[in-house]
Amino acid sequence: MEQYDVIIIGAGGAGLMCASVASRRDKKVLVIDHNQKIGRKIIISGGGRCNFTNLYASSENYLCKNPHFVKSALAKYTPYDFLELVHKYKIEYYDKQHGALFCKTSSSEILNMLLAECKNTTFKLSTTIKKVVKDSLFEIYTSNGNYKTQSLVIATGGLSIPKLGASGFGYEIAQQFSLKVIPPKPALDGFKLSSDDLQYFKELAGVSTKTLIKCRHKIFNDPILFTHQGLSGPASLKASLYWQENDVIKIDWLPNIDFQEIVHNSQSLNIENLLNTYLPKRLTLKFLEKHNLANLQINQLKKQNLKDFIELLHNYEIKPISTIGYQKAEVTKYGVDTDGLLANSMEVKSVKGLYFIGEVIDVTGELGGYNFQWAWSSGYAAGLSV
Ligand SMILES: Cc1cc2nc3c(=O)[nH]c(=O)nc-3n(C[C@H](O)[C@H](O)[C@H](O)COP(=O)(O)OP(=O)(O)OC[C@H]3O[C@@H](n4cnc5c(N)ncnc54)[C@H](O)[C@@H]3O)c2cc1C
Repeated sequence: MEQYDVIIIGAGGAGLMCASVASRRDKKVLVIDHNQKIGRKIIISGGGRCNFTNLYASSENYLCKNPHFVKSALAKYTPYDFLELVHKYKIEYYDKQHGALFCKTSSSEILNMLLAECKNTTFKLSTTIKKVVKDSLFEIYTSNGNYKTQSLVIATGGLSIPKLGASGFGYEIAQQFSLKVIPPKPALDGFKLSSDDLQYFKELAGVSTKTLIKCRHKIFNDPILFTHQGLSGPASLKASLYWQENDVIKIDWLPNIDFQEIVHNSQSLNIENLLNTYLPKRLTLKFLEKHNLANLQINQLKKQNLKDFIELLHNYEIKPISTIGYQKAEVTKYGVDTDGLLANSMEVKSVKGLYFIGEVIDVTGELGGYNFQWAWSSGYAAGLSV
């Protein structure tokens, strides 16, 4: 059996960062992936421009049972550390909004950079793992040879986008070594609506409007996009990270606008014309028809009706039936319970030499480059320790 200092299963962002750091410490590294190609999610990410970090990433931007868990790794390897690497490789980028950095040209530049950083690293692709056994060393039995190692790193990500090679392998290995796994769920995927809500909104598919969406303790001020299935767009994607079954989400269709005040000063105006100033026409019409308010002047409306209608526009409640699902989800939330891991190295507390990094762990970032930052930070922490 060929021996390596470190074997990493999963050639995504986290695995590659770990390989680069470990190989630069002169470790002999093997990276195994069942995909034919390395880093497929990096390539498609950010619409092909990879939102590779967020300058303001902090523990606040992550969902994790233990909100303190991410702090150590994020402090050890910050967005600015990754940016230094990006500068070293002269990759051009821009800040799309609120510190979310994207490549100007192509995500492949980030992948090529990571590969260039991997020095003494062997890649075995299109390789299926048959079995992992722990003796004095870890033994990895695969379709492409058997290998042993002192340090085994699981970087197989979550269940999102099965066609890109997602699998539950990491959760199975966690269970094999008696680690707790919080049942994974799709996230950053938006909402499926009930048939009643869908019936009401379905003609609006394709319409997008700026909103303020509240889900649990989180509020997002972003656009919503109506789709044939329900709600998408950044606001819905972000809210879906925090949404739990049976939760009601509240939508303010007129964010940061005091419509009551506007109405008060516009008594002789037609309500439809007035609302069209702030909402897409199709959405305005939908709301007015439902409440029998179409073609009326504001001073023709009953006070109470108007009050209720304004309340509805600012505080619209929807109870999604679920989020959209793994086919569309940018990430998988929950996963390997951080209680079993050391926060500064990602090593399993009870199994020396075994590490979990990246999305397979119960750490999920919001939309905006936070998930890659977690892949880099957790991969770096493990890379220094293996
Ligand atoms: C469409 C899309 C766009 C995204 N855009 C962004 C973005 O712009 N910014 C951002 O921060 N995040 C983005 N994300 C999220 C981000 O891509 C992930 O959080 C990140 O890639 C996770 O890295 P990872 O290394 O943990 O896992 P992955 O990148 O998923 O890598 C896991 C690797 O393990 C391999 N693997 C899985 N199972 C096995 C197995 N059984 N045997 C062998 N190998 C296996 C897979 O083939 C894969 O190569 C996006 C996600 C998607 C789906």
